[in-house]
Amino acid sequence: MAALSTDPFLAALYAQGKQLPVSFEVYPPKHPEGRASLRDSVGRLAEAEPRFFSVTCSPDGTSQHRTMNVAAEIGELTGCPAAVHLTAFGSTAAQIDDVADRLWHAGIRHIVALRGDRPADAESVPRAYAHAADLVRALKQRHSFEISVAAYPEGHPEAESLDADIEHLKAKLDAGADRAICQFTLEPAHYGRFRERCAKHGITTPIVPGIMTLTLWPRVRRFALRAGTTVPAWLDEIFDGTEGEPEVQRMTAMTVMAEQVRRLVAYGAPALHFYTLNHWVLPLTAAHLAGRHIGNALEQHVGLSTRAGG
Ligand SMILES: Cc1cc2nc3c(=O)[nH]c(=O)nc-3n(C[C@H](O)[C@H](O)[C@H](O)COP(=O)(O)OP(=O)(O)OC[C@H]3O[C@@H](n4cnc5c(N)ncnc54)[C@H](O)[C@@H]3O)c2cc1C
Repeated sequence: MAALSTDPFLAALYAQGKQLPVSFEVYPPKHPEGRASLRDSVGRLAEAEPRFFSVTCSPDGTSQHRTMNVAAEIGELTGCPAAVHLTAFGSTAAQIDDVADRLWHAGIRHIVALRGDRPADAESVPRAYAHAADLVRALKQRHSFEISVAAYPEGHPEAESLDADIEHLKAKLDAGADRAICQFTLEPAHYGRFRERCAKHGITTPIVPGIMTLTLWPRVRRFALRAGTTVPAWLDEIFDGTEGEPEVQRMTAMTVMAEQVRRLVAYGAPALHFYTLNHWVLPLTAAHLAGRHIGNALEQHVGLSTRAGG
């Protein structure tokens, strides 16, 4: 069975009849065409049998209705669990309690609990809690949600130091979060080093790397700069000249993502979280290459249940 994969970690998982869990993040589209296209995407992504989909929210809390609707629709369409992102900024504590109750009664059991970005006019926006750790505590007290929180392998832009940021991450996990999902890194080594550093701070909760779908490099590049993610010069070079060549661009993106996944797995990633940007081809292929086989050939030929684990 080890021959099924050249990666020792994946081979070990296969040998146990298990697979690396994956999850896919999507955002709630504003327009009906975007909604239709998202339905297609999640239908295809569901073939990898993700552990969950997660649906983002706007930083000011105004998209909560759309976020909840999309999460409910994903659940109905795919049968996969959907997690809802919820920010402490943009709502009062009473509003958060109300959203938590509505989510629970709607059957949503997983929240990605976030503080949210500090708005420019911070004073005019309600802030239920100053830090995500307080939100985690409040949500856990209200209902027994599964909770994911954000982690920053290169440090959160506001953090005084990476070690201080890791201590704040630890506070979120100690408040009851079940996993940390990382901001995307373009150099997997940042994830590897971050995990080691978290271990030195006594963190044992799973830390899941985030992999960005590299469709439209200039757009991803902008996201990276905004998020404080290092943009390696080699990535600029590798995408240079592909602007008018969509197929070359896509093959380049796929090659880079496949290599990133391979290295993240080698660093011991306990699962993989894909920022899909509502696309499916690249993240589904990357998940497939990471062992989430989307066909049933393995079952037929070697009797291995490819749907086990995760
Ligand atoms: C996986 C993931 C998903 C995301 N999804 C969304 C989304 O859907 N919508 C959205 O608007 N944003 C989203 N974000 C962005 C996130 O909202 C921002 O990065 C935000 O600025 C910080 O949120 P947080 O939950 O990490 O905050 P926190 O964990 O509260 O940390 C924020 C800052 O405060 C510091 N800090 C924390 N606790 C303390 C303390 N006790 N004392 C002093 N300093 C402290 C931290 O070091 C950090 O610098 C996401 C980020 C990630 C990684």
